[in-house]
Amino acid sequence: MSVTQDVTLGETRMLIDGELVEATSGRTFANVNPATEETIGQVADGAAVEMDRAIAAARRAFDETDWSTNHAFRKRCLEQLQEALESEREQFRAELVAEAGTPVVVTYMAQLDWPLADGLLWPAKQIEQFAWERELPPSSLAGMNSRRLVWKEAIGVVGAIVPWNYPFEVLIGKLGPILATGNTVVVKPAPDTPWNATRVGRLIAEKTDIPPGVVNIVTSADHLVGELLTLDPRVDLISFTGSTVTGKRIMEKGAATLKRVFLELGGKSAAIILDDADFASTVPAGMSVCMHAGQGCAMQTRMLLPRSRYDEGVELITAAMRQVPWGDPTDPSMFMGPLISARQHERVTGLIRTGIEEGAKLVVGGPDRPAGQDKGFFVEPTLFVDVDNAMTIAQEEIFGPVLAVIPYDDDDDAVRIANDSRYGLSGAVHGSPERAMSVARRVRTGSLSVNNSLWYGADSPYGGYKTSGLGRQNGIEGFEQYLETKAVSFPVQP
Ligand code: NAD
Repeated sequence: MSVTQDVTLGETRMLIDGELVEATSGRTFANVNPATEETIGQVADGAAVEMDRAIAAARRAFDETDWSTNHAFRKRCLEQLQEALESEREQFRAELVAEAGTPVVVTYMAQLDWPLADGLLWPAKQIEQFAWERELPPSSLAGMNSRRLVWKEAIGVVGAIVPWNYPFEVLIGKLGPILATGNTVVVKPAPDTPWNATRVGRLIAEKTDIPPGVVNIVTSADHLVGELLTLDPRVDLISFTGSTVTGKRIMEKGAATLKRVFLELGGKSAAIILDDADFASTVPAGMSVCMHAGQGCAMQTRMLLPRSRYDEGVELITAAMRQVPWGDPTDPSMFMGPLISARQHERVTGLIRTGIEEGAKLVVGGPDRPAGQDKGFFVEPTLFVDVDNAMTIAQEEIFGPVLAVIPYDDDDDAVRIANDSRYGLSGAVHGSPERAMSVARRVRTGSLSVNNSLWYGADSPYGGYKTSGLGRQNGIEGFEQYLETKAVSFPVQP
């Protein structure tokens, strides 16, 4: 593994109507490396004028070209894009490490290589396999003999709003099904991680036949430029991944034009360790909450341990959290790098302080800047035990490397605690297979892993119950959410 690519070559330009462009104002904003706090380069600071042009281009490409109906062409374009992305895989890797502060090891998983493997190709395959049309039984209502068909059609213009934690994965997870289903799109990357998206934009412009306007990428330091997507009547659907607070605002702003919304939001997932689980292989895995400094919505940030084996469990997870390798994200031995920004650092350390104030027992880490670490937005792997599920650190999404261990009495109590959350995104159950599966059925979340297995993949629907979101990314459910349904009748020939 190495990240020796020159990371000062990030693409500064946006993609609007097939052209790679700077902002009309000439303004740019800084892309900051969160591990060093150094500016690694600039990117165009788009404004309302660019967003307006991008939306107009996406509308025109949808309304006036055959993009939405030409299946073979779309498939070819997605395959071209796949090839183009693969040709710059190592540049993506280096850039993601530099701008997201993600440890290089994570780029060999969900941060880059996993979504690159099937994020475009699986939806591309569906273009040929999906049932775009089905026939209903004939009808003879009111003496009229009719044949009836159901057609699936692209929705139109999608506004895709992407977060900074897994920016490439989320971008590809949106572009694949959005384009395969025949929609056009305006992407608004997160201001903290713009370069992976502008690189995708350049590759689309230079190495694919994707027509002008089908994909537009508008970078901006101003979140409210993204909000224009939610207000504009020319946009049909918003596909958003990020915080629950912003997700609610998007629904509210989109209500005026009755926007379709797909929202993938926050989580506070629980790992339930049953009393017949193999503790040695499951409890230490709780340190995975530190991967990419805990900046993942599906992280299992609450660990539920049975009182009957509580001390044994606490001992195992304490040892594991103490051993998490963290530091320079370019170092392949690191599992955890910095948080994304000073703002997130303040938020995460504030929540750790709240945990201490509310009486949770701090065993590893804490809110103070780690010794000898005067640059970078680092916090230490942090473990709280004896946590009450009503405490702030058990209810709030912290988005940092913080694990809360909560004791429970029996299986019913474990299920009750796991479900006592306004979120419902993911989680895990560990124990004897039959019992673990039966507990898994009772947990109200959009995904669950039993005994260290992985549900991940472009074919696997991912999303949340409750305030963790609406709709699903990936899978056939994710594909269909970018489609409208039209029922059509015509007379039966005599
Ligand atoms: P955010 O939700 O504010 O930002 C995510 C994206 O939404 C960014 O591209 C941002 O520019 C855009 N955005 C912000 N306000 C908008 C608006 N009014 N209209 C349209 N787009 C808007 O996330 P954040 O503030 O960067 O992070 C705060 C918290 O969000 C984190 O601590 C974490 O809890 C959560 N988060 C969750 C996920 C996830 O995958 N579920 C991802 C990132 C952040």
